[in-house]
Amino acid sequence: MREILISVAGLTPQIITETLYHLTQVRKPPATISEVWVITTTAGKQKAERELLHPRHGHFFQFCREYDIDAKKILFGHEQIVVVRNKDGQPLGDVRTPEDNAALADFVTTFVRKKALNPDIALHCSVAGGRKTMGLYLGLALQLYGRPHDTLSHVLVSPPELESDPAFYYPPNQSKRITVKGRKLHTSQIRVELAEIPILKLRGKLPALDTGEVPYSDLVRRAQQDYALLNTPPQAVVDTRALSLLVNGRRIRLSPLETAVYVLFAEARRSSCGKTGCPGCTKCTFAASDFLGEEGVTRVRQALRSLKAKDARLEELRGWGAREPTDPEKRFREVRSRLNRKIQRGLSGETWPALYTIASLRPPDADRVRYGIRLDPRLLSIR
Ligand SMILES: [Zn+2]
Repeated sequence: MREILISVAGLTPQIITETLYHLTQVRKPPATISEVWVITTTAGKQKAERELLHPRHGHFFQFCREYDIDAKKILFGHEQIVVVRNKDGQPLGDVRTPEDNAALADFVTTFVRKKALNPDIALHCSVAGGRKTMGLYLGLALQLYGRPHDTLSHVLVSPPELESDPAFYYPPNQSKRITVKGRKLHTSQIRVELAEIPILKLRGKLPALDTGEVPYSDLVRRAQQDYALLNTPPQAVVDTRALSLLVNGRRIRLSPLETAVYVLFAEARRSSCGKTGCPGCTKCTFAASDFLGEEGVTRVRQALRSLKAKDARLEELRGWGAREPTDPEKRFREVRSRLNRKIQRGLSGETWPALYTIASLRPPDADRVRYGIRLDPRLLSIR
């Protein structure tokens, strides 16, 4: 299996040689790195090219010569030092604005997604260099797209004085005495370690991750929705006595009319086709027209009567149904949006309020919108 190093870098290109040193000289068994990729800014690219890739003084080539590695067998040149580009395709000099930051997220995510398409390469991702967000996005991208054999790590050098020493790139092969910030030490005392960062691997678990190139923020939002559906959501109880909906220990108070309408939808869902992801069949759902005319009004009135709350004014159901000729569905839509607002507000902060609202669904073979509760009918009860 080919192994490639992907590193984010700012103005400290030494983290690349340090990481290579660990992977090829310290790690057991040593890694055979066949490509090195650096994600950076324009300033970072200039510095990395100057410090690492100069044919004679470049520390990458010096490192390879010193440790008897055939540099020709490692694909690492100017093209492998890639500069983050904004959405207009302009290279970034630095990450200064929220737009730059969003561009960075998209760029790093796309980069890792593409590299992880090839099952025959293992990715070693290093978060040591660059701005904090660069390393963070590299880690997050690997969390979304990494395979079991991909790793995320951070290089650590001791003694700590060396970390900020611009002249240090890797421990020399032949040990010698050096002075760093006034401190004398023997290079055999230098330790270069890789702290591996364990991450969740979500690849293959969430359908959102199988899509092509989408902005990072959209990707996370979609993956979050997928994730919510993977878990069994809490039960919902329509409490007809106390005129409320109970979900996950939260009580959402409803008016008598809202309770009656919700009960109608809950009954339909409970006596339904039983499919968890019903697209909106005629058993589970209603059309707005089902609440119109004599039949529709009677349906609502009966549901109201069965509630324990008695309210004579409601018996009239003023404004409901066909009595408003300009927009006969208006009253239903008003009640529905009030109900949904209360549910959304009552369940704010949770990941699944949409399962409890009266959702508008567009079944594949129907020409009109239908309305229904999407929650699994086994999780829905009325008392
Ligand atoms: Zn159904």
